[in-house]
Amino acid sequence: MAAAKSLKLSFPEERIALITIDVPDKGANVLSQHVIAELAELISELETRKDLLGLIFISGKPSGFVAGADIREFAASYDVGREQTMKVSSDGRNLFARFAQFPGVTVAAIDGICVGGGAELAIWCDRRILSSSPKTQFGFPEVKLGLFPGWGGTARTPRIIGLSNAIELITSGESIDSTRSLLLGLAADVVPTDQLLAAAIRLVKEEANTKSYLEDRQKWERPIVMSETELTFLGATASAYIQQQTKGNYPAPIAALELMIETSQLDVAAAANRETEQFAELFGTPINRSLINVFFLMDRNKKDLGISHDASTRAIRSLGVFGAGIMGSGIAAAGVKRGLTVTLTDTNPGQLGNGTKAILEEASFDRTLKGPDPKKMLELAANLNATITDAEFRRCDLVIEAIVENQQAKQSLYHRIEPLLPTDAILASNTSAISIDRLAAGLARPDRFCGIHFFNPVRKMPLVEVIRGSKTSDETIATAVQFVKAIGKSPIVVQDGPGFLVNRLLLPYMHEAIELLLEGASIAEIDSAAKHFGMPMGPITLYDVVGLDTAWHAGNVMVDAFPDRIVATPLLGALVKAGRLGQKSGAGFFAYPPNNKGSGNDNKKGVEDPAVIEMIRSMQRKSEKHSRETIISRLFLPMVVEAARILEEKKVRDVRDVDLGLIYGIGFPPFRGGLLFWADSQGIGRVIEELSQYEPLGARFAPTPMLSDLARSRRGFYDMSGRTSR
Ligand code: NAD
Repeated sequence: MAAAKSLKLSFPEERIALITIDVPDKGANVLSQHVIAELAELISELETRKDLLGLIFISGKPSGFVAGADIREFAASYDVGREQTMKVSSDGRNLFARFAQFPGVTVAAIDGICVGGGAELAIWCDRRILSSSPKTQFGFPEVKLGLFPGWGGTARTPRIIGLSNAIELITSGESIDSTRSLLLGLAADVVPTDQLLAAAIRLVKEEANTKSYLEDRQKWERPIVMSETELTFLGATASAYIQQQTKGNYPAPIAALELMIETSQLDVAAAANRETEQFAELFGTPINRSLINVFFLMDRNKKDLGISHDASTRAIRSLGVFGAGIMGSGIAAAGVKRGLTVTLTDTNPGQLGNGTKAILEEASFDRTLKGPDPKKMLELAANLNATITDAEFRRCDLVIEAIVENQQAKQSLYHRIEPLLPTDAILASNTSAISIDRLAAGLARPDRFCGIHFFNPVRKMPLVEVIRGSKTSDETIATAVQFVKAIGKSPIVVQDGPGFLVNRLLLPYMHEAIELLLEGASIAEIDSAAKHFGMPMGPITLYDVVGLDTAWHAGNVMVDAFPDRIVATPLLGALVKAGRLGQKSGAGFFAYPPNNKGSGNDNKKGVEDPAVIEMIRSMQRKSEKHSRETIISRLFLPMVVEAARILEEKKVRDVRDVDLGLIYGIGFPPFRGGLLFWADSQGIGRVIEELSQYEPLGARFAPTPMLSDLARSRRGFYDMSGRTSR
């Protein structure tokens, strides 16, 4: 049977051709090699029609125009060799370049997402019309995969919107909306979605009359007119900005910048050839592979139901939140923002009032206004019901408890409210550390109870751990997962257990940082090694941000649970006892002099404090020199070991949950692909060798049976998930 076609050719008017892109069996149009071949065939056929006034591209999918090239094909062809990579790049681009030579004007009619390879298809057309839908976005996200556009995007775009604008668009990887596209001259017009095709047909006729597209064709083939001084200035300022943003860890944006500066002075064909050569340099590099892995992690997470087989879910329309503190307010705001009806309460009326205000301000935040939008705030206020009456929770589909971290307080609340809720409603706790099974004891419906653990600040942190107790039903988990996604977050399902997933992995890392201090490494050496590895901040600074008391309590949970691997450190307790709780108390590992402003609004820049240095010295067991490499191994290897234990205990269902959890939960550097992806790329054999050096330090460096097995069979963690990391 012939494969279903992805492109449909029609003629809305006699001399106007229309190609409708609708890749079968896909939610979004993706340009696989198969689709490209089909397109080549159609274009060859249409090029013979010298009578055509124009050719319009449109999508047959409501999801958008084209979501890009087929990333799975990319990942399957890392090892095809430089020549083949260049061929795929130049073949695609040579095909698209024919749109700028076509017998009539070519127009891309874009509604919804138009990114990556889709944006390149559109940029080679003579004209683009965009719909005014807020879903319409145009962009080149390739740098986020460690690449840049490889089908001529870097050559063609600067000639249409100017070099400086194109550099910003391509090196940032961020998409722009219709209004900005119109301003940049990327869009010829912006019209409502239902008028898109009619407007494109009108434009074809106009252009056929004026022939202005033919002038542009000539102009866009030539080098860009810019003086040497202008080019040097643009290159230097953009380079400084990119270095600051990427901290040197992401080479693609700088490579794109250098390429575009260099090729701006060539004609477009020569510029595109250079692009192909340079694209092949980036393709298949370790960073490209790591970032593509992160893309797959995110993609899998979007599709994951949270359970291994189908279960019915309950639609959550009405959310209840107990506790209007830091976390409860954040959770309520996320719900209000996404159109849920939210009922909120707190035993402290002052907190309830403050929380209500904060929730509405946050939910109605407008990026352009850089503050709350009063009109939106009024609209959203109707969705928020702040109350002191339990009975008002009677109609909630889901109630999340975010009150004090105290088992008794939580259980007595459940005892009071469970009988009020509909029998199929879900009750969940945002607890950081209390066992879900322990909290479920005494519930009438433990199958409808789970943890929904948000991270602080809720507004910024994408990760939510959905914690499964031993009695939690599949339906409850699937509903919780669906709810978390509906409010714009990324859920990972974790079996109940100390530290759940993220804290169980974070704590060994933070604990090791203190062990290093007590063996002679300095605060600056430890923090700078972690940052060099790519962490957003060093572990010692992280202590001050999280709060030393909070870290101490969380650490104690781990000490109790895993005494063979984590031993309480006297240093943390002493600092807490001295009232040094971190940034919130004005002193932690660092001192925070009131006038010591950091950059921008950051007034929390710490300085070394001789009193703390002295405290550390008095507790030091050794005073050894540690290289940066040693510090990195010491910090991250215990995490790998603990992650292997988590997998052995089946706390998560897949290796990829660990990696995405750490990227989203603690900012593990995406350019490393994830903790276990990083371990795989070192080779598990090498990881074991390194561990053996540190094994005298304790069981936290002892390889687990899973690690030994993987090393023996020369496999990696990702081989267990059916994907390979190499
Ligand atoms: P918080 O102190 O800011 O807020 C708790 C609120 O609950 C307070 O306003 C308090 O008045 C109210 N409260 C206490 N008992 C109540 C009751 N019986 N009924 C209604 N309201 C009651 O605390 P938080 O930081 O928002 O933490 C809440 C929960 O979330 C805790 O279980 C905590 O462990 C967990 N958590 C906190 C963080 C964090 O970083 N703060 C992160 C993840 C999870």
